[in-house]
Amino acid sequence: MDDKVMIDLLGQVGGLFTSSLELKENVDFMLGALHQLVGCDSATIFLVDERDGSLVAMATHPYGKTVGSVATFSAGEGIVGWAVSERHAVSVRDATKDPRFKSLPIGSSPRSALVMPLESPQRVVGALTLARKQVKPFTELEQALVRILANQAAISIDHATLHSAVQQQMAEIAEQKDELELANAQTWENSRLKSEFLANMSHELRTPLNSILGFSEILRDNLAGDLSDEQRRECLDNIYGSGKHLLSLVNDVLDLSKIEAGRMELQYETFPVAAAIREVLTVVRPLAQRGPVELETAVIDPELELRADKGKFKQILYNLLSNAIKFTPTAGRVAITASRLEGMLRVTVSDTGIGIDPEHQQRIFSEFYQVQTATDHQFEGTGLGLSLVRRLVALHGGTVGVESELGRGSVFHFTVPMNGLRSEGRPRNRILLVEDNRGNRDLSTMVLRGHGFDVETAADGQEGLQKAKEGPYDLILMDVRLPGIDGLTVTRLLKADPQTAGMPVVALSARAMMGDESEALAAGCSGYITKPIEVRRFIQQVSAFLEASNL
Ligand code: ADP
Repeated sequence: MDDKVMIDLLGQVGGLFTSSLELKENVDFMLGALHQLVGCDSATIFLVDERDGSLVAMATHPYGKTVGSVATFSAGEGIVGWAVSERHAVSVRDATKDPRFKSLPIGSSPRSALVMPLESPQRVVGALTLARKQVKPFTELEQALVRILANQAAISIDHATLHSAVQQQMAEIAEQKDELELANAQTWENSRLKSEFLANMSHELRTPLNSILGFSEILRDNLAGDLSDEQRRECLDNIYGSGKHLLSLVNDVLDLSKIEAGRMELQYETFPVAAAIREVLTVVRPLAQRGPVELETAVIDPELELRADKGKFKQILYNLLSNAIKFTPTAGRVAITASRLEGMLRVTVSDTGIGIDPEHQQRIFSEFYQVQTATDHQFEGTGLGLSLVRRLVALHGGTVGVESELGRGSVFHFTVPMNGLRSEGRPRNRILLVEDNRGNRDLSTMVLRGHGFDVETAADGQEGLQKAKEGPYDLILMDVRLPGIDGLTVTRLLKADPQTAGMPVVALSARAMMGDESEALAAGCSGYITKPIEVRRFIQQVSAFLEASNL
């Protein structure tokens, strides 16, 4: 090679590893330069795999595309493994006569070869091999030249590996920070709603208590002079009504906390839908007459029978109907319908009332949420009714929704399975979380437990398999990337075992590549949740999977 070309090439290689190019591009360029500088038929760089010490080809020249088919050496194996474990360069005169030789890279069979460990000051990162098809051993000068380039490459590889490890850690930290911030925001929002609820609740308690105390004082101390029988009866009616109101308030709070703790059990029975609706209408009719609001019912098939908890079903209807009446001004209309729809009972409660702005439509199903503020007491209420409705419907394996237009009215609708659930009565909230990353595991557990789920955890696939067998669980949340047996393999094993096959598995993965979801579904997962989790959405997704698995 002409000296000028050589000097130029050396200059380029010298500046290479301080350039901003990607490591792979630098290594490819260096192998190409070596190929020209020392005249060889193939040049390959192997990297040490940190997990088992094996040597895997990272780049090869001139047949770069074949890098995937280049032999891999396990720790200490062959002459490449030897050079790395001994930290010693080896120059082989004729590979075909050397018993230590394991077929070297690239289709041709090499004769003379040079194997150089790649050493950074900290560690051995891999090996560089050069091969010639003829017997033409590498000279001292060639070896010295290769050594200089190999040292440079080693330092760059070491830096790049450290850099990517640091990048990965930073990404993980950023991910965890985001998750914690979300969890914090959620906690903050919960605590804000709870304070608002307490303020609201104390007002709600005080109003009927004031009536009870006031009217009983009048009766006891004759404060209003002699009362007629009718006045006396009015006082007693008031006391009685306020007492009943207090009781229902306390019951709502108790119901909600029971559901949250997973202790609400449904008492299933089969009953005619029309009769249940009639019974609730009898209770709400006086409220409607006070409006007055017209109360309409569509003709409901007397044969239509539902298997559900009748008391809870009536509670759902009562909450929806009393809201509809409460939020409908005088001379409005409230109507209820019930019909069968593909194995489900669909009930609608519509009104011509004040309506709900779209921005509030989903939030009104959260505990304590009211469109009007806590200090605006135009409408009575604690903000618990719809949250109870949502949870009671979900316990039955159904869903609830609303369509509404501000100023024109609302239609609340819900569906529940006509024939009850397979797991009648038992709350379905037992979850097994298989996740190796401690931060993610703690976060998901905290969030799930905070929402009333009963969570068990496993730190790897093996433990996951064992815990699933000790189950049963209503849902298994499976991280895809696990050390040892990966999440999809664990899923396949669970699905292949009759004891665990019935438990739905949902994949949890930070990889959101096209095809990942279909791979998870093919492995037997019922769904796919992408990390990092967004707390509110995560809970919605988990609840939806639990509900879906009921059907
Ligand atoms: P509460 O009625 O005790 O305030 P709910 O949980 O039953 O609590 O309802 C939450 C909020 O949703 C209500 O405060 C109200 O703002 C809104 N809402 C519920 N039903 C209706 C309706 N039919 N029309 C208009 N707004 C409604």
